[in-house]
Amino acid sequence: MNFYIMTLFPDMVMGGLSTSITGRAMEKGLISVEAVNIRDYAGNKHNSVDDYPYGGGAGMVMQAPPVWDCYEDVCTRLGKRPRVLYMTPQGQVFNQSIARELAKEEDLVFLCGHYEGIDERALEAICTDYLSIGDYVLTGGELPAMVMIDCISRLVPGVLNNQVSADIESFHDNLLEYPQYTRPEEFRGMKVPEVLLSGHHKKIEEWRRKESIKRTLKRRPDLLADANLDKKERMFLEELLAISESL
Ligand code: SAM
Repeated sequence: MNFYIMTLFPDMVMGGLSTSITGRAMEKGLISVEAVNIRDYAGNKHNSVDDYPYGGGAGMVMQAPPVWDCYEDVCTRLGKRPRVLYMTPQGQVFNQSIARELAKEEDLVFLCGHYEGIDERALEAICTDYLSIGDYVLTGGELPAMVMIDCISRLVPGVLNNQVSADIESFHDNLLEYPQYTRPEEFRGMKVPEVLLSGHHKKIEEWRRKESIKRTLKRRPDLLADANLDKKERMFLEELLAISESL
């Protein structure tokens, strides 16, 4: 899978993504990440890519021509017009199911704004998706692009050593993941739940599902409406709800 990041700060994104699991995935050729510097398309001797907003107001706006020329260059090299995701606090909030959908693409372009954002005409001309990482405003789209690329990369086969972990962790079935433990067996008087030491796989699986349901109810009850539960698990949830209502 190939990621292209249109940005004014290529070192920032390449530095972050070349580290740890995404870095190893790049080395193994499972993903490729290319930061394309929008400033290289400035077309003026000062390499300036921003200007004052028409109509007045605070801040600067990234100009349409360098963004368009940068995009055209990427498309020419790719020989196609890939999906272009504009990182914006005004977009749909990114989540695991959007990540799963995007992971099916072969090429994805991430467009990172800065200052007050990008001239609307460039966005209209090239963007297919508008995505946010949450209801707060950052200084630029680089961190959101890194967040999304990290998340999508984990879904590319081979990127994680143990692909099962991507299949059953938080948000799978719309549940949060169960609590995890490792050695030592006892830490400051707190013991690892007995069942996890039993070697009884079916019981462990049941315990984990129940813990997932409990945890989701406690921390993210909004997810439960769409949770994928069987009849027994639904009854367990109803029991938990009855207990919490009686308290
Ligand atoms: N003036 C814009 C507005 O009110 O919608 C905000 C501009 S913000 C300071 C600069 C850039 O940061 C945006 O163009 C966008 O690329 C990025 N950005 C900021 N917050 C973001 C968020 N929550 N999710 C995704 N991108 C964000």
